[in-house]
Amino acid sequence: MSVPILEVVDLHAAYGRIEVLRGVDLAVPKGAVMALLGPNGAGKSTLVKVISGQKEQTSGDIHLAGVNVRHRRSDELARVGLCTIPEGRSVFPNLTVQENLTLMSYAGVPTPAILDTAFGYFPRLHERRHQLAGTLSGGEQQMLAMSRALASDPALLLLDELSMGLAPLIVDELYDTVARIAQSGVSILCIEQFARTALRVSDYAAVMSGGRIVASGEPGEILDTMADVILGGAA
Ligand code: ATP
Repeated sequence: MSVPILEVVDLHAAYGRIEVLRGVDLAVPKGAVMALLGPNGAGKSTLVKVISGQKEQTSGDIHLAGVNVRHRRSDELARVGLCTIPEGRSVFPNLTVQENLTLMSYAGVPTPAILDTAFGYFPRLHERRHQLAGTLSGGEQQMLAMSRALASDPALLLLDELSMGLAPLIVDELYDTVARIAQSGVSILCIEQFARTALRVSDYAAVMSGGRIVASGEPGEILDTMADVILGGAA
């Protein structure tokens, strides 16, 4: 088996004295889409923050493509291929769609390539390229956030609640694109409350509860055995 793109080993993290990650072990195989599911408060967003260098762990290790990246800052992680789309998107509302994208050329990818990729995945962004990002719909802003992430040519994309505040049809459309992005060779870890939607495009799934991974396996298996934990409230 090849080295996983992401391997998290016995990871612990806390807010003050409250331990929220209590020994997380997780491996995302290279080229795979993995869904990370679990109830509210399980620690999923905290795990994303620690992996992406926005929060310190108390102990444990994080390997990216076999390299220990423990304690690296977000910008250093970006340079080794990790890109995160945090909960709530991340676009500049007062810049146009095109300006949001061309800003990303600082990452070293030429502007035409950035625009081709973005508009190839999301033709709607091409139609709206001169519109201010703040005036886009929620789904379109998520498309723009995803396009900005792709501009950094990531090896691993971390998606935190892509579906936040969006209508189910748009969420489905976005996950279809996630599947296409994965086909281009990008590995993806997606944290999602719409379990069925995420499982539809995932190769593997892991379930988090109480700060630990309590189950992992193939999507069908997880849906059969963990339905009560992962379908609580949302489909
Ligand atoms: P959700 O889907 O509700 O975001 P989650 O699985 O992503 O849930 P986290 O957001 O990681 O869970 O939260 C895990 C625990 O840590 C929760 O009990 C939460 O209240 C707590 N927590 C999260 N952020 C902070 C913070 N900044 N300060 C203190 N406690 C926090």
